[in-house]
Order: sequence, then structure tokens, then C-alpha cells
Amino acid sequence: MTTATVEAENAKEEIEEIVSNCIRCGMCKSLCPVFSIMREETVSPRGKAIILDKKVYDKVVYECSLCKACEQKCPLGLKLCDAFRKARKVLVEQGKETKENREMIKNVKEFGNPFGRVSGKKLDKLYCC
Ligand code: SF4
Ligand code: SF4
Repeated sequence: MTTATVEAENAKEEIEEIVSNCIRCGMCKSLCPVFSIMREETVSPRGKAIILDKKVYDKVVYECSLCKACEQKCPLGLKLCDAFRKARKVLVEQGKETKENREMIKNVKEFGNPFGRVSGKKLDKLYCC
């Protein structure tokens, strides 16, 4: 088993520890910027928690700005945002991440920033906006 595989398996356990405590109350939806625009239960923090609780690792976890607003509203203080971030790690290990994510990782490795070549120069350190 590779280090990445072990990390992904650990991530699955940590996700389960978080989402299995969800009582499906829906309070986390109220401040979610993604849900406020898309208005679909599947992309709401509760929807994504339910999907992960079924041990389904789906690209829907990329429908999240990682803002942690859901964590602020959850009466149980569940670290949902952490769960979505860990689920992305699982997807990367399974080779199921988005094309955009794959490209971003490649750019960071190759150019030192998520956007790719900047002004024709290769940056010597990580740059972000
Ligand atoms: S962390 Fe993601 S799911 Fe939670 S409120 Fe922000 S955008 Fe929504
Ligand atoms: S607020 Fe917390 S307990 Fe309620 S649905 Fe969202 S994650 Fe689950």
C-alpha cells in the first residue's frame, strides 16, 4: 500500500467520524453560499454529508468554497468542511478528481502557482492571489 493510499484510507475513517454524527437538521444550509445559488439539496452541506455517510465519494464535494460557514451553524459543531476537503483527497487517490483540480495540481508543481505560466516566467515559490 502506498503512502497516498494509506492517507486516503485514514481520510475515509476521519470523514465517517464526522458525518456519522449528523442529525440531518439542515441548519448548516442557511449560510452556505453554494446552496444559496444552486438551491439543490445535493450540493448543500447536509446533502454532501448524507452522500459521504453512505460512503459514496462523489465530485459533488468540489461544489464547496471551503468557507466553513456550515461549521459555524451546525449545532453539533461538526467539521463538515474538513470532511469535504478529506473527501477530495480520497477522490484524488481514486483518480476521480475534476479536470480543473488535476490541472491546478500540475500547475503548482510545474510553475509554483495554481494558474500556470505567469508572464512567461517560472516562479520559484508558491504564488496566490
Ligand atoms: S464550507 Fe462548503 S458546504 Fe460549508 S458553507 Fe462553505 S461552501 Fe457551503
Ligand atoms: S447542521 Fe450539522 S447536524 Fe444539522 S444537518 Fe448540518 S451537519 Fe448535520
